[in-house]
Parts: sequence; C-alpha cells; structure tokens
Amino acid sequence: MAELYKSKPVVEDHLRKLTDKCLELKEKGVLPSMKVILVGNNPASLIYTRNKKKFCEKFGADCEIIHLDEKISEKDFLGQVEKISADDKVHGCFIQLPLPDQLKHIEVGDLIPPHKDVDGFHRDNLNALLHGNEDKALLPCTPKGIITMLDFYGEKLQGKNVVVIGRSMIVGKPMMLMMLNKNATATICHSRTVNLAEHTKRADIIVSAVGIAKFVKKEHLRDAGDQVLVDVGMNHDENGKLCGDIDFEDVVDHCKAITPVPGGVGPMTILSLAQNLLQAAENSLYK
Ligand code: NAP
Repeated sequence: MAELYKSKPVVEDHLRKLTDKCLELKEKGVLPSMKVILVGNNPASLIYTRNKKKFCEKFGADCEIIHLDEKISEKDFLGQVEKISADDKVHGCFIQLPLPDQLKHIEVGDLIPPHKDVDGFHRDNLNALLHGNEDKALLPCTPKGIITMLDFYGEKLQGKNVVVIGRSMIVGKPMMLMMLNKNATATICHSRTVNLAEHTKRADIIVSAVGIAKFVKKEHLRDAGDQVLVDVGMNHDENGKLCGDIDFEDVVDHCKAITPVPGGVGPMTILSLAQNLLQAAENSLYK
C-alpha cells in the first residue's frame, strides 16, 4: 500500500513556525491582521471562512470575517472592498468565492492590492511567479501548499517529471510554474489533451486538479508503482461523500504515495494563506 501524504503532521510542524514568526512580528509592533470578505450564506463558504479564522487565531494573528448581505449591490460591494483594502491596519485580505449572481461577473483577482493579496491571485503576484521571483511574494495558496507538503515528505523536485492535470489560474497554471521554478520538468494536461495516460505514465509526480470524481485511475499509472499522486480535487461521489479526482481504492496499491481526500491538499491551502498573511505583514515593515 502507498504511503499517505497527510496534511496533519505538515500543518502541526508549520504551526510552530507560524506562532514564532507571529510573535516576532508583534515584538516589532505589527499585529498580523486579515479581513475575509464573505458575501451571503453559502454553507461551504461559511465553513471555509470559519476554518480560516480559527486557524489564524491558533498562531496569534487577528482575523475578521466581514459578512456582507447576499443581495448587496455591486457599487456597495466594491466600496466595501476598497475601504477594507485601504485600511493600514489590515495586512491581508481576500474575497471568499463563490460570489452571488449579481457579483459573479466581477474579476476579483485584481481587486485586492497585490501587497495584501493573501490568495496570491493578483496579476503582479502571478507575474512574480512567472519570473521566478518567489522570495517574499504572495503565491497562490493551493499550489504553494502542495510544494510545502512535498518538501515535508522529502520529495526532491529537481529533474523530476511532473504532470499537472488542469490549467486553471488558481491551481493548474501556478502549479506548473512553481514546479518549473523548482527545476522540475513540468507538463500541463487539460480537457483537449490527446492520450492523457501517455503523459501521466511518464510522470514521477502527478498533480490532479480536474474537478471530476475518481477521474484518475490505475490505467493512468505506470506499472512500476513508483509515482507520487497529489489529489487537489474536492468532489462528491455517487453517495454524496467527499472524494478527490483520484480513484483512491483503484490506485492505492499501485503508487509510491498519495495525498488523501479529505486530509490532504485542502488544509495545506489554509496553511499557505496563513504563511502569506505573515509574509504580507513582514513585507509591510519594509514599505
Ligand atoms: P477548473 O477551473 O474547473 O479547471 C479544471 C481543469 O480540468 C481545466 O483546466 C480542464 O481543462 C481540466 N479538465 C476537465 N476535464 C478534463 C479531462 N477530461 N481531462 C483532462 N483535463 C480535464 O478547476 P479548479 O478550480 O482548478 O479546481 C479543480 C478541482 O480542485 C476542483 O475539484 C476544486 O474543487 C478543487 N480545488 C481544491 C482546492 C483545495 O484547497 N483542496 C483548491 C482549489 C480547487 P480545460 O481547461 O481544457 O477546460
């Protein structure tokens, strides 16, 4: 059976580092502070934002959820975002997605100024990633968390063949860039890729960010059983149970390691958000 790359030990290890760094910042007169902009009452969003707040409080940062009305107008919403973003006491801010219908067309990526963009979605932050300037940058949380996890479990990336399935702006594309910046040989696959299995069989590490339950199966793996599988997917199976993109039961005896769902990539995303908050707070000292 494959080794399980669980997030729990990684998060526990990093929580100590976050606590120390937060204390250090407070001693320098900076109380790391984050605002979460939540519109409406989407049940999953309520849980996610609460978890993020709880996690920040664990290491001593301040986090407030600004809960806006489901029916808020575009003008009022943008006004609120601008006001929060302009507050000097706020180091990090993000907008919890999805937004309600009347706000769905808004490109949220650039709404938060880059130095407070703890999600790492702003074009300036993506540009830093594109240029390989990752030091002190605020990087997209999910791919950043995957790098943290692979590092914790001793996976060396240099020279490895990495196949990323999915090319979204929040996971697939930044994941590919981060892998390149670590000197891996990165391939990105998507819905128009011809013969996906040909690519995935060549990979030392497969990162799946597709959003289809149990999409990656044994037939996508090579026989050697030496591949590392990273499952970003958060889907529901036919019984409504949370599951990833990777068919866990089908592959677990045919790979070296796999990240479980739940308990794998999800909590790593929250850890990255916290790391970005402290990075933003630290950067504010040198403005
Ligand atoms: P997305 O924007 O919907 O992108 C999905 C990608 O998968 C697209 O690039 C699409 O290709 C590709 N794809 C679809 N069908 C495919 C197929 N048959 N073969 C190969 N590629 C295919 O999704 P996302 O936002 O990146 O999210 C992906 C999954 O990760 C979702 O389940 C989401 O809930 C989850 N997620 C989890 C976390 C976490 O913290 N754990 C964070 C973010 C997302 P095209 O570009 O050609 O359409």
